Amino acid sequence: KCVVHWYKCDTRTMDNRALHLASETAAKHQLPLLCFYLISPQDFEAHLTAPIRVDFILRNLQKLKEDLSELDIPLYVETVERRRELPSRLIELCTIWGASHVYCNAEYEVDELRREATLTRSCLGKGISFNVIHDTCVVQPGCLKSGAGGALSVYSPWHRKWCAYLNEHPEQLDAFPPPKKNPPATLQAYPDLFACKIPDAPKSKQLREEEKTRFHTMWPAGEHEARARLSKFILERILKYHEHRNLPGGNATSNLSAHLAAGTLAARTVVREARDAAPSKRLTDDRKQGHSMWIGEVAWRDFYRHVLCHWPYICMNKPFKPEYSNIEWEYDLDQFGRWTDGNTGFPIVDAAMRQARHTGYMHNRCRMIVASFLAKDLLIDWRMGEKWFMEHLIDGDFASNNGGWGFSASVGVDPQPYFRIFNPLLQSEKFDLEGNYIRKWIPELAGIKDKGIHDPYGRGYAKIAEVNGYPRPMVDHKKARERALARYKAGIGRD
Ligand code: FAD
Repeated sequence: KCVVHWYKCDTRTMDNRALHLASETAAKHQLPLLCFYLISPQDFEAHLTAPIRVDFILRNLQKLKEDLSELDIPLYVETVERRRELPSRLIELCTIWGASHVYCNAEYEVDELRREATLTRSCLGKGISFNVIHDTCVVQPGCLKSGAGGALSVYSPWHRKWCAYLNEHPEQLDAFPPPKKNPPATLQAYPDLFACKIPDAPKSKQLREEEKTRFHTMWPAGEHEARARLSKFILERILKYHEHRNLPGGNATSNLSAHLAAGTLAARTVVREARDAAPSKRLTDDRKQGHSMWIGEVAWRDFYRHVLCHWPYICMNKPFKPEYSNIEWEYDLDQFGRWTDGNTGFPIVDAAMRQARHTGYMHNRCRMIVASFLAKDLLIDWRMGEKWFMEHLIDGDFASNNGGWGFSASVGVDPQPYFRIFNPLLQSEKFDLEGNYIRKWIPELAGIKDKGIHDPYGRGYAKIAEVNGYPRPMVDHKKARERALARYKAGIGRD
């Protein structure tokens, strides 16, 4: 007999609620704790998981396996080719191992909730206790309500409630200790589980050798790395976060999104550590203080998950605001290709897209700029951009990505009206003042030493741009803005 923890997006030993509960149950019944992870290539396809993210998941699993084996806990990893066979394989493994209890942390996307509901029923039939635990959000979805008792879809009032809830229930931020060491006999009882190797990435998700070298240096894996990044950020940069966070050329943000998405770090951990380092131990919505501003950004991650739970139809390619379903979008693949390749002729947009291609990451301000450009200036269906981000970013996370795209395309939870359209040139001048971010990512323009870099064709640098092969702006922003306003207005007006 044994107790089992099923790993998903929570590949860590520390501060993991379901893993901790599994360990407690195992200790109570004097049973060993076994862990497993099932790789589903069809899930990777269905979820558009980027190859860089698949590679990161596999590297995290390797580190996790090493960490767990120090506690004499095996991590068994297996590839299940067919997605729909995953639940039956899970039950088969648990039956072979004689599991009395299975624990896992909840995921809130519709497919995952359905799968877990099926598993709960099937396990019951086999006499196995199947436990799905709330862990990924700092505040459990459903805990925060409006004055009238309904769900909240506007961030600011939601965030005030989020802070108040955590101030009232500070124990929600307490850490869960890592699992206890298994009985010494576990090693002999389950040699195959200890010996199993982490499989290679499925064929369609493999990186080239050159990409592997680049990404492994940029994105070291594992929870110890994640914690070290967090500590360094809190020690060196969080104090000034509110001042510099919008500048893509600096290094002001935490770069922790890949770890939060993979679950090598819990959102609870980062909020607790930031709060403990803050001048005040009470959480507030003070945007003029680095620690509270940063915690407020981490709260956006919770916010979008809560939105997903309350309005699950957003998982089905539908906009949060149903009245925005009838906007007539463009599907021009040539224009879309210029956007994905960073050849739009708008330097800030192109720098951001090239950063994403080269690193698997993009700064938040730039994500907003390129998303607005695609949806408003090009009027291309925002879902094509949402999909491209998932397919290319290391931190691709359905709720945050869908929320960010909905927000930027004005079809999501943002209470701002659709006529707030980013001007890429003004954004560029404001947030990349000296043009260093553009200079770094667009070598064609690196020779331009002044502010002409934001708009080379409009500011006397056409020759340099042309000679180096940098394109002219693919649209006139003023005209594109008017077209977008008309199209949004017509779309909303229609039945
Ligand atoms: P920091 O500024 O250090 O913030 C700390 C953490 O808070 C982040 O790691 C992240 O987990 C969370 N966070 C910060 N801002 C947001 C936000 N606006 N929404 C949700 N969570 C936030 N974030 C993802 O993790 N995955 C995505 O797939 C994703 N797609 C996005 C798409 C668009 C169009 C937009 C506008 C934003 C998207 N974001 C996404 C949010 C944000 O851009 C990234 O979380 C952030 O850039 C990551 O950098 P960081 O870790 O240095 O962030």
